[in-house]
Amino acid sequence: MGKIDVLLGPMFSGKTTSLIKRVQELEDEGKTVKIFKPRVDNRYGEEVICSHDKISRKAYNIQDISEAEVEKVDVVVIDEYFFFKDNLLDYCKIWKDKGKHVIVAGLDLDHKGEPMPFIDSEKTSQDLIDMADEVTYLKSKCEICGKEATMTERTVESNTERLVGGTEYYRPVCKEHHPKWKK
Ligand SMILES: [Zn+2]
Repeated sequence: MGKIDVLLGPMFSGKTTSLIKRVQELEDEGKTVKIFKPRVDNRYGEEVICSHDKISRKAYNIQDISEAEVEKVDVVVIDEYFFFKDNLLDYCKIWKDKGKHVIVAGLDLDHKGEPMPFIDSEKTSQDLIDMADEVTYLKSKCEICGKEATMTERTVESNTERLVGGTEYYRPVCKEHHPKWKK
């Protein structure tokens, strides 16, 4: 039986660390795993995913999800799903129907606090959540008050909708301290 697991959270919530841990566990169970990530994301070099604590794993860079070769794989892992088009949703369904375990990770909300959209699409993280068998929410720590952070705030002015970066542009904040909600 295939399944779709979704791993969501703000920036700096340890999504990649958690992903790498899961991959390790699945490999220990004898499963073959392949990790894919969008080509746009060049943080920490090319063909790897890397956690903020610098643990890395091989990952295949692809532009479109249709390029993912998963024939001989038990577990398909996709990091930073929101840099793909919404055909990712169709592929997840197809892979699940073929009996594969699909794990998808990324932000649930954009920096404005809205559901994270796929590239050029009306579809968002909510569509991913709707099709998931299991959803895990990770949290970070609010940089202002230290409470649990579920949101990401952009700390610079930019007209670029999808500004790729880390702590230089973004910080994790709780709902109370996010611009969408604070008075
Ligand atoms: Zn706060």
